[in-house]
Amino acid sequence: MFWADQIANDLKDKGPQLVDDAWTTSGFAHIGSLRGIIIHDTIFRALKNRKINTAYSFILDDFDPMDGLPIYLDAEKYLPFMGMPMRSIPSEVEGKTLADFFADDFIKTMEIVGTNPEILSAYELYKSGQMDEAIRVALDNAPKIREIYKKVSRIDKGDEWYPFNPVCEECGKIGTTRTINWNGKEVGYICEPEMVKWAKGCGHKGKISPFGGTGKMPYRIEWPAKWKVLGITVEGEGKDHSAATGTRDMGNHVAREVFSIEPPYDIPYEFFLFEGKKMSGSKGLGANAKDVAELLPPEITRFMMIRNYKRAIEFNPKGATIPTLFDEYDKAILAYKGETDFPDLAKVAEYSQKEGKPFTGYRPRFIKIAYSIQLPRVDIFKDAETEKGSPLTNEEKHEITIRIAYAEKWLTNFAPEQFKFQVKEAAPEVSLSEDQKRFLENFEKELQTTDWNGQEIHERLHAIKNSFNISPKDAFSAIYMIFLGKDSGPQAGWFISSLDKDFVLKRLREALK
Ligand SMILES: [Zn+2]
Repeated sequence: MFWADQIANDLKDKGPQLVDDAWTTSGFAHIGSLRGIIIHDTIFRALKNRKINTAYSFILDDFDPMDGLPIYLDAEKYLPFMGMPMRSIPSEVEGKTLADFFADDFIKTMEIVGTNPEILSAYELYKSGQMDEAIRVALDNAPKIREIYKKVSRIDKGDEWYPFNPVCEECGKIGTTRTINWNGKEVGYICEPEMVKWAKGCGHKGKISPFGGTGKMPYRIEWPAKWKVLGITVEGEGKDHSAATGTRDMGNHVAREVFSIEPPYDIPYEFFLFEGKKMSGSKGLGANAKDVAELLPPEITRFMMIRNYKRAIEFNPKGATIPTLFDEYDKAILAYKGETDFPDLAKVAEYSQKEGKPFTGYRPRFIKIAYSIQLPRVDIFKDAETEKGSPLTNEEKHEITIRIAYAEKWLTNFAPEQFKFQVKEAAPEVSLSEDQKRFLENFEKELQTTDWNGQEIHERLHAIKNSFNISPKDAFSAIYMIFLGKDSGPQAGWFISSLDKDFVLKRLREALK
């Protein structure tokens, strides 16, 4: 059974479900965060398919401090804001905070891939008073939480630590404050100049009620508090949080031992590696989720993210990742159509759609389209019609147009040399072996009477190659060399058929001189 359907199965008798995901608004969302959104959306859809009363929320952690400077922010301008809540820092856009600015960008990305969770603001949860009771419970249970830190995360917070960080009334920072006491009504705090490396507190000492948005709980306590307050029943996390002694493990203990709830159903999903690097959003090392989402049609992005959440994704747009993804997606569509017997893969195809049902009409391979648009004389639609064997429907034409656009984007920005070629106007200087010459000589003769289509030429080529006992590599590289000036290229029969017959024969004769 497809993993999301399995989860829905596990939860079918457990009442209404709230699927949740969250993200800190400290920079442009990286592509790994998009994986979380899509995985949770898939579970949300699977639960709804089971007719389970389900909602999907997404919390913007906009009350978190700015604890790092993304490379795309002006350091001089933003350094003084380090340690302040993201929601209190102005952006370059008039009237928008940095938190809003980054959130808007990510919400647009969510829409591109067809996810529409209910967006919540962590700050609003605090300000509205919804978190008050959890704050009180956490502060009352400070000794127990210190023990959990020691036991689970091997962190000794000391005996005077409290799970609350007020916003300093003097300097507005939240990343620098430390609560030093709690009397049931107010917390006493210090804004520490040296507590963290990334921000300097002002030294202010104050006393304030911790309720109604005057401060927040640290992330490891806040997460289970949200589970309790909102009634979240399903929430997974990326591998960096799911390791033993990690944030999730800690959250589970706090949920049970402090907030007296069972933690939500867990889905620990794997990393997303971009060009071999682990994503790190706030440091600006990772690829912007929106940029990646725009490289691919939404169904391919979703397909990549959900087909196996336990497997790390290695995404390298400068390699063969993109054409391979399209091919694999096409295989999933075959399964969906029942032409192959892979029921889980069929489900992946179904859940990969931005909306509606998968397109099941005829569509050429992505790589073929990418090759076709590099050839001077090819009518992609006519070619497609020949391959299909009947006229294209309007929907099929539309789908081909979409693939052409993505292929152009890929070729222009990323495609490696092996996928790019240009037919040489003049015969390139090449040195051919005797075997290669004999092979081309016969090919030239055969071509004169061959029907000018890819399949026919392909079959002739193979017949000649076999009769000469020449290796495929030697045979085909001879063809690529004389037309492209390099030793590899697109599928040869089809490639030759895309060229003018007289031109091909002339080039072969020139090469054999
Ligand atoms: Zn301060």
